[in-house]
Amino acid sequence: MEAIIAKQREFFNTNKTKEINFRIAQLKKLKQLLKLFESEMNEAIYKDFKKSAFDNYSCEIAILYAEIDEALRNIKTWAQCEKVKTPLLNFPARSYIIPEPLGVSLIIGAWNYPYQLSLAPAIAAIAAGNTVIIKPSELPAETSHVMASMINDNFDPAFFKVIEGGVSETEELLKQRFDKIFFTGSVKVGTLVYQAAAKHLTPVTLELGGKSPAIILDDCKLEVCVKRLIWAKFLNAGQTCIAPDYVLISESFKKRFLELAVKEIKKEKFSIENQNYVQIINDRNVERLSKMLDKEKIFYGGTVNPQTRVIEPTLMENVTFDDAVMQEEIFGPILPVITFESLDKAILEIKKREKPLSCYVFTESKRLRNKILKEISFGGGAINDAMMHIVSSSMPFGGVGQSGMGSYHGKFGFQTFSHYKSILDKPVLLEFNIKYFPHTVKKLKLTKLMFWLR
Ligand code: NAD
Repeated sequence: MEAIIAKQREFFNTNKTKEINFRIAQLKKLKQLLKLFESEMNEAIYKDFKKSAFDNYSCEIAILYAEIDEALRNIKTWAQCEKVKTPLLNFPARSYIIPEPLGVSLIIGAWNYPYQLSLAPAIAAIAAGNTVIIKPSELPAETSHVMASMINDNFDPAFFKVIEGGVSETEELLKQRFDKIFFTGSVKVGTLVYQAAAKHLTPVTLELGGKSPAIILDDCKLEVCVKRLIWAKFLNAGQTCIAPDYVLISESFKKRFLELAVKEIKKEKFSIENQNYVQIINDRNVERLSKMLDKEKIFYGGTVNPQTRVIEPTLMENVTFDDAVMQEEIFGPILPVITFESLDKAILEIKKREKPLSCYVFTESKRLRNKILKEISFGGGAINDAMMHIVSSSMPFGGVGQSGMGSYHGKFGFQTFSHYKSILDKPVLLEFNIKYFPHTVKKLKLTKLMFWLR
């Protein structure tokens, strides 16, 4: 590891990655490789947890293509030196901001969208001119191997390298000095990453999780809202960081919601055979999720097959914030429904807890929508939809508080892997004496005027 990092630092110091044409060439190469490896990537992810080619394309590879295309279209503008206003105090001079790469970056990926979560930050890092080491999640072993062979057989390791491994390898990596660490995963491990980075004062981006609420108000167009919500919840068998974790709804509206939700689940026919469902990633998570199922509160589903690692899409009713299912991020196909007496009380309950990564609001009322958006802090979200905000390269994707820090996608990813260097560029022809000794009353008056005029 040390040798690879040293090589990357050496390579970074040659200034090669600062050439825009170099970055463009690497991004184009990555796009070609993705095309070349597409079927291999499909096979690997199917072996790991039975994710279909459709889901692998729409939720992972298409997003990577979009991120590469967005970077290729805009890289010259993003990397441009930006001229800004110079205050009168510095007259005559020019001021500008130069984006520069941070250096050697480490990207640690999560398992649930293994390609996207490792490679999308890498695209941003490359576009911004960094060298990259990816440590993909070890849990989907086949996808980790495919990424390793795709990158390691085709890129110079001094520029771009995948290091496979689990906890001990990550711990070892985290002892090293990087110029940027980009982590996607749990709050628990995110805390460890932040601590390790602090030793070297390395800047970090943490893409974490949390319990994302879906607030369903009585005035919403329920049929279409339920359709969107159920799709979002059970995609990837609920193993999505921005999946709606639980539903908040009024007691009077709950019955109709549950009826429609069951109808929608049946209509969607979620199953591995239908290629619209996946396995739970491992036995440990099957066990963890099983403990959340309170038989008394299951409204629909609840079947667990430990042999096939499949948990049926499950709805739970009469849930309270004290139930086991509400003590941690679910990250699986269980949807608890909690009722509220008033929207204000529901908002208060959300605000009592950690800031979520997402929040979804289903309503036709602009006033209530605005109230929720104003009063609750969360990473990002959607009105009358769930999860689809992630596909936009024009919006930053990231959490706040315990759901993460920093963001990426499109220009925001470029910014995440850049330092913005501020430069005052002053000719030597003229020099005013105001700031120099002796400090007279007249000079003070002039200084005040200059600050006032700016
Ligand atoms: P995780 O934290 O267990 O693992 C993430 C990475 O950290 C893996 O590469 C793993 O090898 C490494 N790791 C695990 N334990 C470690 C340790 N003790 N020391 C050092 N490294 C360690 O997370 P996960 O199970 O892969 O993913 C699930 C979590 O990630 C959920 O909380 C989910 O919400 C979150 N997530 C967030 C996003 C996002 O974009 N915000 C996306 C996907 C998943």
